[in-house]
Amino acid sequence: MPTRRRAPAKKSSAKARKWVYLFVDGKAEGSAKMRALLGGKGAGIAEMTNAGLPVPPGFTITTEACNAYFASGRKLPAGLWDQVEKALARVEKSTGKTLGDTKNPLLVSVRSGAAQSMPGMMDTVLNLGLNDETRAALEKLTKNPRFAWDAYRRFISLFGRIVLGISGASSTDPEAKGPFEMALEEKKNATGAKTDAELKPDALRQLVDEYKKIVRRETKRDFPTDVNDQLRLAVEAVFGSWFGRRAVDYRNAFKISHELGTAVNVQSMVFGNMGDDSGTGVAFTRNPNTGAKELYGEYLVNAQGEDVVAGIRTPSKIAQLKQEMPKVYAQFEKIAQKLEKHYRDVQDLEFTIERAKLYMLQTRSAKRTARAAVRIATDMVREKLINKDEAIQRVDPLHVEQLLLPRFDEAEVEKARKAGRFLAKGLNASPGAATGRAVFDADRAVELKGSKQLVVLVRPETSPDDFHGMIAATGILTARGGSTSHAAVVARGLGLPCVAGVTELDIDLQKRQMRVGDKVVREGDAISIDGTSGEVFLGELPTIQPKFREETLLIELLSWADQRRRLGVWVNADTPEECRLARELGAEGVGLARTEHMFRQAERLPIVQDMIMADEVDGRKKALAKLLPFQQGDFFEMYKAMDGLSVVIRLIDPPLHEFLREYADVDVDIAVMRATGQDGAELDRKEKIERRLQQLHEDNPMLGLRGCRLLLVYPEILEMQIRAILGAAIDASEKGIKAKPEIMMPLVGVMGELDRLQQQVVAVAEAIFKERGKKVPYKFGTMIEIPRACLIADEIATKAEFFSFGTNDLTQTILGISRDDAQKSFLTKYVEQKIIPADPFQVLDRDGVGAMMRIAIERGRKTRPGLKIGICGEHGGDPSSIAFCHEVGLTYVSPSTYRVPVARLAAAQAAIAGAGEKDR
Ligand code: ADP
Ligand code: MG
Ligand code: MG
Repeated sequence: MPTRRRAPAKKSSAKARKWVYLFVDGKAEGSAKMRALLGGKGAGIAEMTNAGLPVPPGFTITTEACNAYFASGRKLPAGLWDQVEKALARVEKSTGKTLGDTKNPLLVSVRSGAAQSMPGMMDTVLNLGLNDETRAALEKLTKNPRFAWDAYRRFISLFGRIVLGISGASSTDPEAKGPFEMALEEKKNATGAKTDAELKPDALRQLVDEYKKIVRRETKRDFPTDVNDQLRLAVEAVFGSWFGRRAVDYRNAFKISHELGTAVNVQSMVFGNMGDDSGTGVAFTRNPNTGAKELYGEYLVNAQGEDVVAGIRTPSKIAQLKQEMPKVYAQFEKIAQKLEKHYRDVQDLEFTIERAKLYMLQTRSAKRTARAAVRIATDMVREKLINKDEAIQRVDPLHVEQLLLPRFDEAEVEKARKAGRFLAKGLNASPGAATGRAVFDADRAVELKGSKQLVVLVRPETSPDDFHGMIAATGILTARGGSTSHAAVVARGLGLPCVAGVTELDIDLQKRQMRVGDKVVREGDAISIDGTSGEVFLGELPTIQPKFREETLLIELLSWADQRRRLGVWVNADTPEECRLARELGAEGVGLARTEHMFRQAERLPIVQDMIMADEVDGRKKALAKLLPFQQGDFFEMYKAMDGLSVVIRLIDPPLHEFLREYADVDVDIAVMRATGQDGAELDRKEKIERRLQQLHEDNPMLGLRGCRLLLVYPEILEMQIRAILGAAIDASEKGIKAKPEIMMPLVGVMGELDRLQQQVVAVAEAIFKERGKKVPYKFGTMIEIPRACLIADEIATKAEFFSFGTNDLTQTILGISRDDAQKSFLTKYVEQKIIPADPFQVLDRDGVGAMMRIAIERGRKTRPGLKIGICGEHGGDPSSIAFCHEVGLTYVSPSTYRVPVARLAAAQAAIAGAGEKDR
């Protein structure tokens, strides 16, 4: 490809720069490869043009022009307009029409289009080039006054809203419809038209007059009649929409760079509003909900542009087109197949039919649900359209987790139905189950989310202005719009459940309530929506976990991933149940079993508390002896669940006072007891606890008496835990179970600690082996979670047989940031203000924590080549952090249970992307 953008002609760049790329007469200057420069829409249009598909001619102004426009304080770059005029002349020649001509006028659309698809986030103006004269010409040419007036009124309102900034319907004030919408609404009421398609030419003519008055009133100027002014203003407005609020919100939510800029496509108009042999629609080459191989979409007869997505009229299913216009349908089906083959991916298509002639207006990779992504990827491998590596790369690892997310318990749904809690049914627009409080506007959704409440956003229909509310919601419910409506598309992209087009819903935005018959839901009332069935219920519904075993396509995809990945995938699991589930999900070992989680279970906590309260070693030993059988039993069950696989068990880690949390207010209790004259044993007990709490109090518990420090101060705890670990292993071996215990020391920072700990472990092990008359193999290793441990990793590896990075603590200690405190106070701000690129507790900080990990790996493996090194922090379940783990050559990652499949896929993607060579 000739990459003109990188042409070295710096000096005269203003002149030499190519800002405009034509697509005309079946040939385009651009191609699908030029996404960054032409935007996704422009690149797609170019590719379709070159493929010989019927695309209305036009040209694309580059994203670089947009960036230059902003760089120079909103001025069009030099040379741009010349190129626009030249390109326009070519389009005029090709179509035989001229912009502004009073006999045969050319009309164009001015369409935004960034490199990354941002559906509906930015603006497009249709029918540009109309004024009183050109409208009259259009009427004469088409002999269709209704069409000419309809095109004109649409143009004035679009141009008025987008270019002149006359505000449209607002999501923040439910009453505030834009003036154009209000005038249209009134006109429909006055003439008895149910839809805008029923408005007569006369009514549309009056509407045009009213629209012009609105423009004069709102802007203190007449509507611009000069078509060249119209074009220039529209191009600048599309550039401007790049930094509009909704576009900025969207990019923030999807982590899209603000520096990409948008391209502008100027394209000759084709008209779907020329009568009943015309129409416009949107279709996917496969079903984006289920992945089924079938054309899926909607269209509207006698309509233009966004009527379909805006949910203004309820559109017909694409299958209907087969009956209504069989020839057009057949042609469209062929084109759809051709495009899917060409792009080797599901396409989301826009088309318009003008007097029975089909035109293609857009093609892009379709957004799809998690389920559809898996089905499409595996189907396409079977169809030999893509290979397994590509299939692996086609599925977002986090989507996999979505497939394992809860859905409503069917028995509970049945119960709710019987109890009369069924409210209504609409379109199953985006799958999943959501329960939350109903709210009726986006800002309220954000507010309630802020106070940690789950909300379901309910709207008549959504628009890009509602986006901030949609990301705050757990589910979305709309009364209008189809499965390609804004609500549906955005919800699928966000992985949110959505039920759309529930026509029975009578929503009263002003009263903040909705009703179906006599059932009323007020703001704050709980509702439940099922995006898989399309049903809506009153009140909360409990959810259940889906069965992994039944996800056969996912299992197949993950088996391909397993062949490809180099990283092992283990799991952080604290109970036998978790182990069983994790093993089913594909875990190859337990990378972290936190023994203290077992301490917190109901019947054990009092024993642990007794142990803490004991004054003497003997008292502690007595309590520990009671704990031993519990721990030993747990370990036995875990070995049994993981038969043949490693189980890494970390000895006690948190500070002791965490086990006395329920006594946080003991001083108050004591004061009350004293004030009310109670004394005796209970008061004594509480006073003792208070004294102990005071003794245990630390200013910085994170850096205090915890981890291996605790084990060295109270060796009897270590002894009990080693006895339980190895005792259970002997029990297991006696039952024919292959236990592979690995004993892991937390928070080691100096060699003296590790030396002493090892001696003690060996001593206890020898004692128990002797007592039981049997030996079992075990490994001794350590967490690496203190910076100093990274630096002395070579020495540590002389004693430790394995390492496991505890990246939660390692991040805290390297950044000097306390996670729990920081997330409350400044970390979110840091991320928002781009002081740091991401929350380092979610996405591994490669430059700091990552660099330290590299040191530890290198030094550790110098002493002990092939040293087994894992990661057991939360980063082990984050795809980008997993890529880093692959890159630095870790042996395995250990995520939480439901992230195991995520990690399997992410590890394979990292292997395929060759993350080892490429940095970032
Ligand atoms: P978006 O990115 O929001 O989909 P588009 O630029 O695709 O915006 O345009 C909005 C609507 O107008 C789409 O339905 C599109 O198909 C239609 N449209 C755009 N350009 C033309 C054109 N030249 N002729 C007819 N319809 C058009
Ligand atoms: Mg579009
Ligand atoms: Mg730790």
